[in-house]
Amino acid sequence: MQNIDISKLTPAMQQYVGFKRQYPEAILLFRMGDFYETFYDDARTCAQVLGITLTCRNKNSDNPVPLAGLPYHAIDSYLPRLIKAGYKVAVCEQVEDPAIAKGVVKRDVVRLITPGTLTEDNLLGGAAENYLAAICFEGQGSGKSGSNMVGISWVDLSTGQFFAQMTEIRFLIDELVRISPSECLITQEREDLPPDFARQLAEVIGTVVTARPGWSFDSRQGYEELTGILRAGSLEGFGFSEPDCSIASAGVIIDYLKETQKIALDHITSLRKIKRESFLQLDQVTLRSLEIERTIREGHTAGSLLGSIDETRSAMGTRKLRHWICYPLNNLNEIHRRQGAVAELAGFDNVRDSLRSVLREVTDIERIATRISTGRAVPRDLLGLAQALRQLPVLKEVLSGCSSELLVELSGQCDNFETLTSLIESAISPEAGMSIRDGNIINTGYDPEVDRLRGLCHDGQAWLASYQKKLIEQTGLTNLKVGYNKVFGYYVELSQAQAEKAPVHFVRKQTLKNAERYITDELKQYETEALTAEQRSKELEERIFHEVRREVATYTLRLQQAAETVAEIDVLASFAYIARTRNYCQPEVHAGHDLEIKEGRHPVLDVQLGGKFVPNDVALGGRFGDVGIITGPNMSGKSTYIRQTALLVLLAHTGSFIPARSAQVGLTDRIFTRVGAADELTRGQSTFMVEMLETANIINNATDRSLVILDEVGRGTSTYDGLSLAWAITEHIAGVIKCRTLFATHYHEITELCELYDNVKNYNVAVREWKDDVVFLHKILKGRTDKSYGIHVARLAGMPQSIISRSKEILQELESNFSREAHRPQLTGKLGKKDTAGQMLLFSNQPTDPLLIKLKNMDLDNLTPMQAINLLHEIKSDLESR
Ligand code: ADP
Repeated sequence: MQNIDISKLTPAMQQYVGFKRQYPEAILLFRMGDFYETFYDDARTCAQVLGITLTCRNKNSDNPVPLAGLPYHAIDSYLPRLIKAGYKVAVCEQVEDPAIAKGVVKRDVVRLITPGTLTEDNLLGGAAENYLAAICFEGQGSGKSGSNMVGISWVDLSTGQFFAQMTEIRFLIDELVRISPSECLITQEREDLPPDFARQLAEVIGTVVTARPGWSFDSRQGYEELTGILRAGSLEGFGFSEPDCSIASAGVIIDYLKETQKIALDHITSLRKIKRESFLQLDQVTLRSLEIERTIREGHTAGSLLGSIDETRSAMGTRKLRHWICYPLNNLNEIHRRQGAVAELAGFDNVRDSLRSVLREVTDIERIATRISTGRAVPRDLLGLAQALRQLPVLKEVLSGCSSELLVELSGQCDNFETLTSLIESAISPEAGMSIRDGNIINTGYDPEVDRLRGLCHDGQAWLASYQKKLIEQTGLTNLKVGYNKVFGYYVELSQAQAEKAPVHFVRKQTLKNAERYITDELKQYETEALTAEQRSKELEERIFHEVRREVATYTLRLQQAAETVAEIDVLASFAYIARTRNYCQPEVHAGHDLEIKEGRHPVLDVQLGGKFVPNDVALGGRFGDVGIITGPNMSGKSTYIRQTALLVLLAHTGSFIPARSAQVGLTDRIFTRVGAADELTRGQSTFMVEMLETANIINNATDRSLVILDEVGRGTSTYDGLSLAWAITEHIAGVIKCRTLFATHYHEITELCELYDNVKNYNVAVREWKDDVVFLHKILKGRTDKSYGIHVARLAGMPQSIISRSKEILQELESNFSREAHRPQLTGKLGKKDTAGQMLLFSNQPTDPLLIKLKNMDLDNLTPMQAINLLHEIKSDLESR
């Protein structure tokens, strides 16, 4: 593009190049008649992504231009594919009628569609949120570096939900993974960013990164942008007392939307401050590895925690559920309020079932409100809105018998939109569809002029008959006829015999053999009207539709509040439905440190395996957080058990019930996990490095209120290296952090730690050996195991019999040469316990090795040199014989 010699191009192509230079990052769809054309690299991309034909303009010239076009009416099916593939698209329309254009038709880019700025359902492709985020580091642009704070904001343009938070830089990625934005705005000033930041962001978060001018990351300017958009004198009411980097990032978002969207942003009515501490914190690793909102392998919601507990009925509920799951509460009061509502709805089958069937009828009020406010709503949207709003009083009625605090509150918030629904229902025809321009959208009886114009189109024959009757009565000419033909239009016809009696206001128009044809002023007027009636009626209907839409738009804030209410009722009803149908219990969430679960089940596997899932207990807590060491063969259920525990704790903090017989869950501030890193290799880090990074994160950040889940630590290095690390890490957690921890490991030696720390408990997974077979019972029992059954698992996996037999031989050989008891490092004896100063108290316990005992008991004062030499010999030969 850069090297194109503009002067050699046609005027239209010059125009194209001008726009393309304004939007270099986007694919420019250039409207030419019935097509959107793309040229040069854009054409190549479109041909590849959309599978359309790539052709060439000026093929034989020295200036060939690659070209690929899409029919304009098919844009709705092509756009989503481009956006999904991560492209931005600039739509350049003809903004004047080509028929009256002098020279090249005027064009303009009417919209820039980017992954983070979608509002249409067909582009969004589902109910899930679609966030545009912006990041601003504190001191950015001012040359004041060194601060450790960052501002993050994110908006869903399709709903108007807008959030901002300020947090420490070390939590930036965790928060972004939780937000999961489709597009992220960062500054284009490299010196303000950590090295390679944009690439890492794109890779780790999987988002499209858009660079914005450095000057737009300014907190004062952001403050002004926001007070303007939110129509507020100050942002104090939203919880922002002064312009900070979170305000700067929110301002960047507004600035970007204004520039690219060319729509009113009236549906952005608030900016919610998110405080990290108000929620149970989930870092990126935990969000991913516990498969909270999508599976690791396929990235699908189905099979994740969210997918398995989503029984919401409305799109608003679906989004709210994701929010509640990704932002579990950290406040007992709020958790109990939600629990109270769930308990009540779980108990009243009638109320819950009625709610759920009403909620099914509620269309996406939130997104429709946005489309209305941004002038993109079609008639069907308004009808859908009215129908949804009609359900609000029904919801209120159904909830009227409820007494839990939250349900009473929500019922009170079920607003009545009688005036609005009546307006829509009286104005918009129930048959109206997606189009605004094709007429038949306004109800008969709503506007007399529309009725009259429609009458002209549809009741032409009736009017002609009544006019004929009127003229016959006036003139007494009984043969008079009123008619129409395509060439001459409307006429009054008299036979030649009666023609003489034609009144003076009959103006002759045509003479036939036996008849004369006339026109009257009234008929002329009718003709002009009738011939244009259809077009005028459509235009008038469109105008009225816009008026009604504008009127509905004045309700935006109230509609958003209603959507919020519906969403909450929906999630609570979904929790209750699951609690009731899957036999969940209400966990007792309390201020202590205990974690006690009886017969807990994994929320996803429990559904997948039906009645075959084996429930298990968890008992961690007491004054110090317990560390549970779980040993057992591969495939026995260790990972399932520890993940299940984390998921149940998370669920308990959302207000949901949990799959267990009973549970007591002490308030938890963070859930940490270290459970395998399937996809990290592609990011250039070794598995072991990732493992250590994740573990270091836990060690550095866990508090006594955290829950830590470790699935094998130290496996990616040599055995002794790994074991030493695993030992030291466990010791640190048990002795220093003292938080609730489950550690599944194959290092059986670690189980010895229970002898040193009161809060270390051993568990194993029950296995039944039968002949040469092993049956995994998936039951967690107290105590340790030292058998791995790796060879059995290999056999289950289909390893050839020859390898299985050989492995058994080798194992036997190893075991007999190196007796299990003697081989065990006996680390407890050798290392002892860490003292308070962090020093290893080597030999602190009574020595157990006979040699050491001998040394210890030796009386050096009474030893002759000869005896000493003999003793040294003894020790040496003793050691050599070991
Ligand atoms: P490990 O971590 O010990 O290798 P996993 O936790 O991965 O084992 O479990 C292996 C398989 O065993 C799971 O995929 C699941 O099908 C089954 N399983 C695990 N726990 C249970 C359970 N409590 N009840 C029934 N099946 C289970």
